[in-house]
Amino acid sequence: MTNEELREEFRACNAYSRPDCRDCWARLYCSGGCAANSMHATGSISGVYRAGCELFKKRIECAVMMNVARAFGAHGDDRTD
Ligand code: SF4
Repeated sequence: MTNEELREEFRACNAYSRPDCRDCWARLYCSGGCAANSMHATGSISGVYRAGCELFKKRIECAVMMNVARAFGAHGDDRTD
């Protein structure tokens, strides 16, 4: 890789370095998503690919909801008792 500026931006990219992710409740699960998607969607590794962002948050919300439902005995399609 010969683009040192891009390499340094990638090296510094994490859950805390993306401005749009700083206050996100899902940042420690997501870490800002895929750097390549961010680059293609926004022109910056530190940008946020909005479609991926919304899908990721919805996926985590659903996973949390399913675990809460199981913990409190709600029965869905994957009923185990
Ligand atoms: S869900 Fe969206 S805002 Fe939150 S950390 Fe991921 S990309 Fe950033």
